[in-house]
Amino acid sequence: MTTTKHAVVIVGYGGMGSYHAKLIKDNDHLEVTGTYDILEERQKVSVQDGYPAYESYEAVLNDSSVDVILIATPNDVHKDLALQAFKAGKHVICEKPVTLSVQDFKDMVASADEAGRVLMVHQNRRWDEDFLTIKQMYNERTIGDLFRIESRVHGANGIPGDWRHMEKHGGGMLLDWGVHLLDQILYMVDSRITSLNSRLSFILGDEVDDGFEAVLQFENGVSAVIEVGTTNFIPLPRWYVKGTEGTGVIEDWALNGRIVTRNQDAVKIEPTPIQAGVGLTKTMAPPSEEATITGALPEPFRNPSSFFDNFAAVIEGKSEPIVKNEEVLRVLNLIEAVFESGRTGETLKDFDIYPA
Ligand code: NAD
Repeated sequence: MTTTKHAVVIVGYGGMGSYHAKLIKDNDHLEVTGTYDILEERQKVSVQDGYPAYESYEAVLNDSSVDVILIATPNDVHKDLALQAFKAGKHVICEKPVTLSVQDFKDMVASADEAGRVLMVHQNRRWDEDFLTIKQMYNERTIGDLFRIESRVHGANGIPGDWRHMEKHGGGMLLDWGVHLLDQILYMVDSRITSLNSRLSFILGDEVDDGFEAVLQFENGVSAVIEVGTTNFIPLPRWYVKGTEGTGVIEDWALNGRIVTRNQDAVKIEPTPIQAGVGLTKTMAPPSEEATITGALPEPFRNPSSFFDNFAAVIEGKSEPIVKNEEVLRVLNLIEAVFESGRTGETLKDFDIYPA
């Protein structure tokens, strides 16, 4: 049986654009039929990879065989490219961060709605297995109610590339990795943020942040630490979570980790004091071997559909988007608050858009 696939043109054939071409290659519903990049050298790479390169964006928009524009350019041009795409009657998949401000995103959504086209943002890290494992633990109460969630990505390579160093292109780590981690925490914890405090790092002397830390308090009692660092030669674990019955850690994307829970059957014995530095402590003495059980991480809860399958179903009117624009708006609003708290040093309340 042959089914017609939706024709996708990738705009911005750099690192992520070319990765998208690989991701879509085996998709049953979408097919990359061409690319457009402002750099001639990238156009050549596209042709070598087997994808015809359009000479101008106008030519892409005027091609009636194109159904979908996938935007994978630097962040500052997403909005303009998307507005033109909607005017030309195309659907849009847009890389994250979808744009640089709440107002810009509202303009994009209004333009998509007016044209009756779909705008879906590639928040692909909702599909990451490390995240889905924590989400499973949160939903299933594997170690009791999670009340503290620490989510970090740490590297030691500084800010990568060229445009990511520049404010005018929407550079900096909050708009880069930050948008993923903040999207994940809001996708998992269904509660209003009641307070936020953040710090941005400018250790490397760039005009944009080379990392940040945000502390979020949710109305349901969960507190979260979200941290991105590019100056960490010793990384902290990807996830560290505390629940009412135990503690969990995921070290890395290979899902190395464990959970340690209270052994309900063990007879409670007073810990014996240990030597700690120049003093003695009972409080910080390890539990006896019988007091805890060390176990494996649970199997992650998996989204039933891939990002691209879901997108295809949405444009065919068969499904709701997994990444909803209201959720993307809430994350952008949070990002603006993280910038503001970082700049002023103040703790912010009453800013969250909840429910999204
Ligand atoms: P990149 O610099 O490798 O590629 C960007 C490409 O866009 C370049 O080839 C550049 O010539 C081209 N370009 C610039 N302006 C253009 C325009 N007006 N029209 C057409 N082409 C244009 O950058 P990248 O790392 O591929 O990042 C691109 C986007 O993808 C960013 O928004 C980034 O945040 C996002 N991204 C997402 C993920 C993810 O996992 N979701 C990962 C990496 C990057």
